[in-house]
Amino acid sequence: MDGLSAFAPQAGADEKNETVGGAALSAPLLSVENVTLEYRAPGRVVRATQNVSFDVWEADRFVLLGASGCGKSTLLKAVGGFIAPREGQILLDGHPVHGPGPDRVVVFQEFDQLPPWKTVRENVAFPVRVSGRMSRKQAAERADYYLEKVGLSRFADAYPNTLSGGMKQRVAIARALAMEPRVLLMDEPFAALDALTRRKMQEELLHLWEEVRFTLLFVTHSIEEALVVGNRIALLSPHPGRMRAEINSHEWDLNSGGSPEFQAATNRIHGLLFEQPETAGDIRA
Ligand code: ADP
Ligand code: MG
Repeated sequence: MDGLSAFAPQAGADEKNETVGGAALSAPLLSVENVTLEYRAPGRVVRATQNVSFDVWEADRFVLLGASGCGKSTLLKAVGGFIAPREGQILLDGHPVHGPGPDRVVVFQEFDQLPPWKTVRENVAFPVRVSGRMSRKQAAERADYYLEKVGLSRFADAYPNTLSGGMKQRVAIARALAMEPRVLLMDEPFAALDALTRRKMQEELLHLWEEVRFTLLFVTHSIEEALVVGNRIALLSPHPGRMRAEINSHEWDLNSGGSPEFQAATNRIHGLLFEQPETAGDIRA
């Protein structure tokens, strides 16, 4: 991280105490340590992120915020275990991530992430069942429990193609939560929704978090969404993504929207994201 992290005056100690209920603060749930990620093709290397580090604590709503192409999705894929870091390491509960696992589940932006030939209930129950942890009946009960949480009990027997985009995303969220992962990974899950539905989904996600207290790693390129959804935000520079700053955002919620303070925070973050850092900040390890 560079000098811009001065924007995080109360570096989160209070928040951490609050979110982990006084449990030992020494061990983050997820540690991303100096992670550089690359795509390699013959004769070509694309560096997606460079030397990115952050810690996610139990019940955090941690947001990766940055411009399109700065490597947010790539970071999420690496946490998901689908891409190995070129440099650095990713630790979950202190153990290096070496591949995908049921302890990390991803919700994507696309509405077509649900197999259309399964009902809503089957969509939610299926991954729970194939992960080998539950009988068909138990998995269906688990599915119904989380469908109720996202307000879709009435649609348990419907097929995805009969649902709106927002409803499909609710199913995807229920399906992910039903796995009861250590970390829920969300990659711009509301970006393809209309503005009103998007806002409603943000609200519902926060309510769901109040109830279930899952740990969330959430990717967005929207500053407003980051402030509303997150309690902590990592600001990533444009391509290749590097940590520009880490800030606390637990003071903002959906009601902060139009306030001058919220607008000021938005402007400051915009500056941190897009203004050229002082050249002295461009230090290579
Ligand atoms: P973001 O999610 O922040 O928009 P991505 O993680 O998708 O950014 O991409 C980061 C960089 O990696 C971009 O320059 C993108 O073009 C490149 N990239 C993404 N996926 C691939 C891929 N499969 N092969 C090569 N380059 C890729
Ligand atoms: Mg992306």
